Amino acid sequence: MTLRRLVFLGAPGAGKGTQAERACRDHGLVHLSTGDLLRGAVKAQTPSGVAAKAYMEAGDLVPDDVVFGVLFERLDEGVDAFVLDGFPRNLAQAEGLDERLAAAHKPLDGVIELDVPASAIVGRITGRRVCKACGTTYHVAFRPTSQEGVCDNCGGETYQRSDDTEAVIERRLAVYREQTEPLKEYYERKGLLVAVNGDRSMDDVEAAVDAVVAGNGERIDG
Ligand code: AMP
Repeated sequence: MTLRRLVFLGAPGAGKGTQAERACRDHGLVHLSTGDLLRGAVKAQTPSGVAAKAYMEAGDLVPDDVVFGVLFERLDEGVDAFVLDGFPRNLAQAEGLDERLAAAHKPLDGVIELDVPASAIVGRITGRRVCKACGTTYHVAFRPTSQEGVCDNCGGETYQRSDDTEAVIERRLAVYREQTEPLKEYYERKGLLVAVNGDRSMDDVEAAVDAVVAGNGERIDG
């Protein structure tokens, strides 16, 4: 049976966004990226956006109450089949999510960890480009646009996120190691974690993710 409430876990640059986008399109789930929601709030200069901006530019975690605010606002719109991409990022967020979903009697039914070695991460992040209009993610070497700077999906302009630079990456990776990585154990203990090897072709990763979302995945995927 298709899983309907999932978390995608993984370091910055592990491919969470790309894989979440595809899985949602193929399985009719809603893609909820707290990074995207926060960037939207920053752009719109909402109170959440104003509160989040400096943390994001520094590569630090935005305070939990701000993140809960933007995410729960979306869930409150009646979204109950989703992939969470970039959330939770620490234990307090994981527990807050569990409480929120338990109250609705709709707990998580899977957590996919995209596993990519640290040595591959920096190149993945610095090469990332994102469409300003539709948010589709590219990579200058691994998934280039057909025409430089132009989104294949919608013709919008692609750009490099200001926190995808080498200066900010080290901080983001340290935050991941210290605060987010322990969630693997948290979800492992709950019997929800499936590790997918994210260090291979995008199509191979997609096939492995697809199998898990479709309910046929191995518990630990090579
Ligand atoms: P992402 O697009 O997931 O790489 O997120 C970009 C930035 O947004 C992060 O470096 C954080 O500053 C912030 N952010 C996104 N999601 C969260 C979260 N769940 N908790 C705290 N900060 C977040």
